[in-house]
Amino acid sequence: MKLYNTLTRKKEEFFPRDEGKVGIYVCGPTVYGFIHVGNARPYVFFAVLARYLRSMGYDVKLVENITDVDDKIIERAGKEGVAAGRLATDYARAYVDDTRALGLERPDVEPKATEHISEIIDLCRLLVGTGMAYETGGSVYFRVEKFPGYGKLSGQKTGQMKHCELAREGEAKESPLDFAVWKAAKPGEPSWESPWGPGRPGWHIECTAMSLKYLGEGFDIHGGGRDLVFPHHENEIAQAEAVSGTEFARGWMHVGMITTKEEKMSKSVGNIFLLREFLKRYDPRVLILFFIGSHYRSPLEFSAANLDEAASQLERFKNCFWKADSVLIEAGTGAPPDGRPLEEAAATTAEQFEAEMQDDINTAGALAAVFGLVKSINEYTEQASAAGGADHGLLGRARDLLERLLGILGVEFNEADYGGKALPKELLELVEQRETARRSKDYAVADAARDKIAAAGYEIRDTPQGPKLIKRTLDFGS
Ligand SMILES: [Zn+2]
Repeated sequence: MKLYNTLTRKKEEFFPRDEGKVGIYVCGPTVYGFIHVGNARPYVFFAVLARYLRSMGYDVKLVENITDVDDKIIERAGKEGVAAGRLATDYARAYVDDTRALGLERPDVEPKATEHISEIIDLCRLLVGTGMAYETGGSVYFRVEKFPGYGKLSGQKTGQMKHCELAREGEAKESPLDFAVWKAAKPGEPSWESPWGPGRPGWHIECTAMSLKYLGEGFDIHGGGRDLVFPHHENEIAQAEAVSGTEFARGWMHVGMITTKEEKMSKSVGNIFLLREFLKRYDPRVLILFFIGSHYRSPLEFSAANLDEAASQLERFKNCFWKADSVLIEAGTGAPPDGRPLEEAAATTAEQFEAEMQDDINTAGALAAVFGLVKSINEYTEQASAAGGADHGLLGRARDLLERLLGILGVEFNEADYGGKALPKELLELVEQRETARRSKDYAVADAARDKIAAAGYEIRDTPQGPKLIKRTLDFGS
């Protein structure tokens, strides 16, 4: 598999640090407001990457942090007249709710900065101890010009850089380039005791401390939005490598930004820039399809036309599943249509999907391959309906393949998509029975319902969208 590495500016063959395992760290939100649709793009992308790597057999550890102490949080809390900690807790919860509503599974580790203050202070102490950082006025700054590799990720030279942080009141930076790793607290601000007095971590140091804690030095992939390359990720590298002398992260992946002609968009569809507002108007899968329809590194235009396109793709998938499942349940004993074209389409799709994903996770190409299979399934189900007979094994395998590939891309389907029409009523009742039993922890009843479902030839799968019935078929292989 080849992945583009921002650090080397080329696609490289991927191999993990530890055989069979992949560690990924993605910069999560700074929780001072509701997240925007654009913020969700990296979360969606890295979830796809993790699922795909798992489908390849890797044991993946995806770490996505929550920045819950920061200047922006303090500023917003001041304006709203609430405690900074309270504001951060509320918006962290909203972020979890919103990304869950989008259908994203939680990362394996979701660390919060405020829960890692001692690791952060230890790192600051090491930086000061080696002379890579210095204290002034209760804050600690990193000596940028002392770190020879500075600028290697963003391709900037220190001589040509504009300083990225203003010195704070009462503090004397040695160089305008130096950035804070520890910030002295002003009265009323959230703070923790440190060797330099009460203060709080700088933004960049959190991610260095948390990624090293959960993934160790030289971990496989560090990612985030394109806008984080400089200064955030450049500074993360400097802090880590200045202490360890070894490579911080081996691969860097950055997701392109969402662009929009905001005014035009607001007029046509209203305020859907906040993820939670978007999800009031659209099926979450519309956003997923919109994101994966383009290469992750490309900028993406958020427009009504592009969303309509994604919405119509979703309908095509739903129709395809509905027709296939109807045929699987209802087709009679007539002679089945010629299965060879569908057999071939399934094999070609599986192959193309893999090739596209192996090429720097080209989800746009993978999605195009999937549509090839949709077309063939639709042709087959139409012929089967007309003939009154179908090869259940073949159609079931093709439909399961479609579902599996879409599942890797993060687009899940269940019987609710077909209004339950294609499934026998007794089965839907059993699903309901099992859910009720599970909620009241009556596992004997839940298992009995599951066994009845299995006896009817169906398998029940639990997904973020709820339980899903899948017609049991032979394994198509992978
Ligand atoms: Zn970060």
